[in-house]
Amino acid sequence: MSLHISDADRAFGEEVRAYLRANLPEGLARKVRHNQRLTREDYVGWQDILAARNWYAIGWSREAGGPGLTPVQRYVYEREYGAVCAPHPCQFGIAMAGPVIDAFGSDRQKARFLPRIRDNVDFWCQGYSEPGAGSDLAALRTTAVRDGDHYVVNGQKIWTTWANWADWMFCLVKTDTSVKPQLGISFLLIDMRSPGITVRPIRTIDGDAEFNEVFFNDVRVPVENRVGEEGRGWTYAKFLLEHERFSMSGAARSRRILGELREDAARIGRIGDPRIRERLARLEIELLALEHMEARLLARSLGGDNPGPETSKLKIRGTEIAQALSRLRLDIFRQDCLPYSDAFLDGAGAGVAEPAAAGAVATYLNLRKLTIWGGSNEIQRMILSKQVLELE
Ligand SMILES: Cc1cc2nc3c(=O)[nH]c(=O)nc-3n(C[C@H](O)[C@H](O)[C@H](O)COP(=O)(O)OP(=O)(O)OC[C@H]3O[C@@H](n4cnc5c(N)ncnc54)[C@H](O)[C@@H]3O)c2cc1C
Repeated sequence: MSLHISDADRAFGEEVRAYLRANLPEGLARKVRHNQRLTREDYVGWQDILAARNWYAIGWSREAGGPGLTPVQRYVYEREYGAVCAPHPCQFGIAMAGPVIDAFGSDRQKARFLPRIRDNVDFWCQGYSEPGAGSDLAALRTTAVRDGDHYVVNGQKIWTTWANWADWMFCLVKTDTSVKPQLGISFLLIDMRSPGITVRPIRTIDGDAEFNEVFFNDVRVPVENRVGEEGRGWTYAKFLLEHERFSMSGAARSRRILGELREDAARIGRIGDPRIRERLARLEIELLALEHMEARLLARSLGGDNPGPETSKLKIRGTEIAQALSRLRLDIFRQDCLPYSDAFLDGAGAGVAEPAAAGAVATYLNLRKLTIWGGSNEIQRMILSKQVLELE
């Protein structure tokens, strides 16, 4: 089954391209192109520009306050978005907290939180993983004990991306330790300014500090900030993970990067090396296959079939290709990648002979994360083997 893109969808794509090109700040595009670190202000400033057109909460329905795009328009949007050097918008509010609140929250929660997420007012983070509870998430141990109209939260989260920047966290906690693990979990929205929260940065292998440990010491969370029913958080968490995985192929971004690498290789005279040409060609073929798979799954879902566990394939192949591209950049630029400069990564450009190479090692190291987060690729393979191939 192939995907039909109508003239109206193409016109929408042109509208998206024009808006992004006209509004993407040059300095920000340069930072993205050169793999430099982005600040909270970079993200928030750019997300404000998207929100001004109601394209920040891009997947939301009109009822939830979003643009109400059809699945094909959304696909067209993502392709146009990936083609420009724009930051990947923070997903925790728009693609995770928002859809859960919209699906399972009270009317009061919807009125309070959804407009602020859509308009990029609050910055969100995700409090799922704990030491000892990553792939085996149901083993989490952070507790929330009821005390009148509050829960008292104690415990620790880990790998919490941008907890240091966040205003709010959506968080899985144990409200009942006497039942089987999946049944005793609840879904809380926690104000990150609550007394008793400590955020401690974790320095990653590339020198960045994008994620954190978060400690809760007698943190009081109003019961009205629980989404849905007590003890049903596992259902909401799983709903959210499916949302997360569908948008994880990154094919459009990889397509842009592959084009940049081809240009860079030609510009510095490396395109004549048969090993580089072979790698570029191989990645082109793999990317075409990924794009085809994405379009096929979308076409199937338009025909009424739920793509379900097959989205795991998008995550596996998409992240492997992104990692292979970051490796290829090292092999194209070779020794030009070697100087490692925090000053460059933090935005200084002056005096760098080859800026396309200067951030390449840090990016290569940083992207090791892709096959771990959002359900590791080993876990995705387990899902495929059980649910698609029906192997035991
Ligand atoms: C950059 C980054 C950002 C993150 N951001 C967040 C965040 O914002 N919020 C949050 O809550 N979490 C976040 N995480 C955590 C992420 O969700 C976990 O790292 C992930 O779920 C894996 O859990 P773990 O690290 O505990 O590894 P483990 O679950 O201990 O796994 C260790 C290894 O064993 C393999 N493995 C485990 N179980 C199985 C199995 N059943 N079959 C086969 N292989 C298996 C895994 O694939 C992995 O290779 C982030 C992680 C990264 C890398």
